[in-house]
Amino acid sequence: MYNPKSMKAEEFIDHQEILDSLAYADAHKTDRALIDAILEKARERKGLSHRDASVLLACELEDKNREIDALAEQIKKDFYGNRIVLFAPLYLSNYCVNGCVYCPYHARNKHIARKKLTQDEIRAEVIALQDMGHKRLALEAGEDPVNNPLEYILESIQTIYSIKHKNGAIRRVNVNIAATTVENYRRLKEAGIGTYILFQETYHKESYEKLHPTGPKSNYAYHTEAHDRAMQGGIDDVGLGVLFGLELYRYEFAGLLMHAEHLEAAFGVGPHTISVPRLCPADDIDPGEFDNGISDDIFAKIVACIRIAVPYTGMIVSTRESKKVRERVLHLGISQISGGSRTSVGGYVEEEDPEDNSAQFDLSDRRTLDEVVRWLMEMDYVPSFCTACYREGRTGDRFMSLCKSGQIQNCCLPNALMTLKEYLQDYASPATREVGERIIKANIPDVTNPRARQILIERLEKIAQGERDFRF
Ligand code: SAM
Repeated sequence: MYNPKSMKAEEFIDHQEILDSLAYADAHKTDRALIDAILEKARERKGLSHRDASVLLACELEDKNREIDALAEQIKKDFYGNRIVLFAPLYLSNYCVNGCVYCPYHARNKHIARKKLTQDEIRAEVIALQDMGHKRLALEAGEDPVNNPLEYILESIQTIYSIKHKNGAIRRVNVNIAATTVENYRRLKEAGIGTYILFQETYHKESYEKLHPTGPKSNYAYHTEAHDRAMQGGIDDVGLGVLFGLELYRYEFAGLLMHAEHLEAAFGVGPHTISVPRLCPADDIDPGEFDNGISDDIFAKIVACIRIAVPYTGMIVSTRESKKVRERVLHLGISQISGGSRTSVGGYVEEEDPEDNSAQFDLSDRRTLDEVVRWLMEMDYVPSFCTACYREGRTGDRFMSLCKSGQIQNCCLPNALMTLKEYLQDYASPATREVGERIIKANIPDVTNPRARQILIERLEKIAQGERDFRF
């Protein structure tokens, strides 16, 4: 029985409710009056239910689809301005005991090179990441209680935060590791993690069980209820995602929004982020073997509809996507992207060897961070290395209320401009620095509060003189 407040996976992700929502969406995909009414509701910027959002996703009226895109773009501007937060993944270990059929780390893959970074190797990777200019990481690891126990992850987090190389520092470590216990989430929280991210892969239970035939991850309920346990362990920024390509995208979309509704109903705060990974080629993995791949057009529409349905949730796109696709979805709602990424264990220090197959997936965007930063600014975005909210304790509903108050322009924009200034001073190429200084100057007037604007101007000057790490 569908119940968003329930703590049971099969009740808050109710299969029949998804099927009913999809049938409803299908029946109304050209229903102009209903689509107009849903768009009207969406303009209030309070989000949409999974059912209403499913109608928009199914909509086959061309003019209404253009309205959906325009509204997504407007909502994005209202809540996130022109800022794009940057991060990089850091792969700690590809040892894994699971049998996920789409992932090259699966335990039966005997020809992939297995690696696990030592603390010294982590130090070297982090220095390389700091030297690129990164301040925010997403830790990635396979699930292996012997090779990658939680103690290893905790020690690695401590190592990462302790490294201060030149002006560099990793100021926020997000974590993407397998579902675990409330007690372990509590320990991750105590280690100072930012967001706990876990992708559902698919919300379709029967498919989930086929795609995860062996290992601890095969337990659908344990995996689906992981974010609840993370919340119970005190982590109030959690990230959702599905791996598009595994199941029918409309099913996943409804499931994803139901999961967001569940977190809101059960804990009073929705997901901090939603990621939209698409299945990529990798060692031993051919995406062609999965029937549910989606086109770039559908991908863009999913991003737009998520943006409208959950306006306060950040949206992440990785280097699984090409420059062209990233450019398209940035306009429609993406607020965070990775840059200069390596998906192999040790990939930031070692030049990636074409013979080395330890990467988790093939990258579609192989540009350096400097190139990504310049490209964003050439499109008038403000690349942001900000980590202020979490360090100021603005997590969970406190972050959401900042978002809702409209004060984000006087807080997030100055923070973005100050961290961009740090980046330009310490890491940018001359060409990027030149564009960057122009972008900073052009954006200062958009800080509407005169006092915040004045403080910003003073701090930018101090950063030019060598001071670091200011924040609002
Ligand atoms: N092991 C952790 C878990 O069980 O959730 C998460 C870490 S895994 C390194 C991160 C994510 O990469 C997975 O959740 C999955 O969605 C994604 N992934 C796996 N294989 C992929 C592929 N072939 N193409 C794109 N993404 C993939």
